[in-house]
Amino acid sequence: DKKPAVNFIRNIINEDLKNGKNGGRVVTRFPPEPNGYLHIGHAKSICFNFSLAQEYPGGKCYLRFDDTNPEKESVEFMESIKRDVAWLGFDWEDRLTHASDYFDRLYELAEGLIQRDKAYVCSLNAEQAREYRGTLKEPGKDSPDRNRPVEESLDLFRRMKAGEFADGTYTLRAKIDMSSGNINMRDPVLYRIRKVHHHRTGDKWNIYPMYDYTHPLSDAFEAVTHSICTLEFQDHRPLYDWIIEQCETEFVPHQYEFSRLNVNYTITSKRKLKYLVDQGLVSGWDDPRMPTISGMRRRGLTPASLRKFSERTGISKKETIIDVGILEEEVRNDLNETAKRAFAVLDPIKVTISNYPEGKEEVIEIPNHPQKPDWGTREILFEKTLYIDRSDFLEDAPPKFFRLSPGKEVRLRYGYVIRCDEVIKDDAGVVRELVCTYDPDTLGGKKPADGRKVKGIIHWLSESGSKPALVRIYDRLFNVENPGVVESVEDALNPESLLTMVDSRIENSLTQVAPGDTFQFERLGYFCADQIEFSAEKPVFNRTVTLKDTWQS
Ligand code: ATP
Ligand code: MG
Ligand code: MG
Repeated sequence: DKKPAVNFIRNIINEDLKNGKNGGRVVTRFPPEPNGYLHIGHAKSICFNFSLAQEYPGGKCYLRFDDTNPEKESVEFMESIKRDVAWLGFDWEDRLTHASDYFDRLYELAEGLIQRDKAYVCSLNAEQAREYRGTLKEPGKDSPDRNRPVEESLDLFRRMKAGEFADGTYTLRAKIDMSSGNINMRDPVLYRIRKVHHHRTGDKWNIYPMYDYTHPLSDAFEAVTHSICTLEFQDHRPLYDWIIEQCETEFVPHQYEFSRLNVNYTITSKRKLKYLVDQGLVSGWDDPRMPTISGMRRRGLTPASLRKFSERTGISKKETIIDVGILEEEVRNDLNETAKRAFAVLDPIKVTISNYPEGKEEVIEIPNHPQKPDWGTREILFEKTLYIDRSDFLEDAPPKFFRLSPGKEVRLRYGYVIRCDEVIKDDAGVVRELVCTYDPDTLGGKKPADGRKVKGIIHWLSESGSKPALVRIYDRLFNVENPGVVESVEDALNPESLLTMVDSRIENSLTQVAPGDTFQFERLGYFCADQIEFSAEKPVFNRTVTLKDTWQS
């Protein structure tokens, strides 16, 4: 593998190691909130954090569930996140943790803050608290409870924990500075009352800690040396440092921010993706059009291509939008190397070879990968009844059309040259069958004896060499460049993002593959057997990506 790219975080780590900081250790973490499925932006964060741990001797990366909002979180989401991280190729070993593992310790430290007069129980309701907080231009005002005696705050905090008060009646707030230029420092809430069931701690807690309090302390407990997050947390860093300092943790972690991954024609917000799922605008979190890791997996994208993409798009503080074409290119590059070739006919027209004997069958041996002889061969059948794709036939073909048209010849890949003699249509004028003749001397690329030039080569299947299949052709889910900023997501949806081909045909052997296996259907793109719906009796394939970048905006 290539050496990892230089970026400012790797520079900081190298510098820290040189200076013997953190005892020469590198510890990172990926801290998702289990309130939805992970998306491509999370994939980048996973790849970066786990790769850093792999790059440095003794490096470690935690997978930590930031589970402090029980109403929105679930075991389903946690399980999906574990699956996604493992699928991307990373191993958290014994470092799977939860913010909820630390609820007792966090509570103890909060009492300590109260005792040192660094936190107080406040009775302002949410609306009042907002008012008191002030704005960017105006300083905030002190809460009337700011100087509540320590003993009183301690007593109230204990009773909050014991469940004596209703949701929203009290909060625990840090005592910092209501006139700070940084609104995050204006006595932020550390704990709120939420009498809700937690998927891990059950009904034990009536209060839950806030992200800004939980996160730095969890980092400290795990001795995370480089706590890497996205740029929107830059303004939270002073609070991060304040919490660490005031709680006097043994280990002092540091936060570093990089700009989040944005991809054009893509949404990278869990909340907005959840909306698509909840509104039934997609079939679920794992709809192959979704930029979720589970959607991309079902679409047939490979872990290697996502890792490459993550590394290639770099780590910086600059806000950029990455072209989704770069992801598609990485997918193609990887699948070109790893996918076997196969034939499929998406929208078949029947072809009858009039001069081919009835009942005769020829077995043609063809390579699984034209550049990889060691991958072996497979057999396809040639016979009287064949299928070609509708798009490879044109009745009134322009001169540059080198596929099949009346009176013209085309080569069937690995097979014979055929000529179209007759076009049979149904009452509606739709082409139903082409009657053709084959040139028996042209098998397997042999040129016609009389020197005739046949330019076009098309894919095909025979009647008994193929089976019916359902094939889904995906296009981009959105047809606007930045769907993240449109007023209504519905308006940004590409109405042609899913085309279902119900009468497709595939090589017989493709009914025996495993769900998730990916192939290059020659001339058509890369396709993967659907992980959920594929069966030998009812094969379903999804198009992962086209062979070339043909997308037109
Ligand atoms: P969203 O904004 O989509 O709801 P989030 O940040 O709320 O995502 P978390 O579960 O808190 O979701 O994220 C876990 C980690 O993933 C965080 O460290 C966060 O910085 C990182 N992350 C989230 N989105 C991106 C992105 N687009 N690019 C890079 N990292 C991201
Ligand atoms: Mg978050
Ligand atoms: Mg969020």
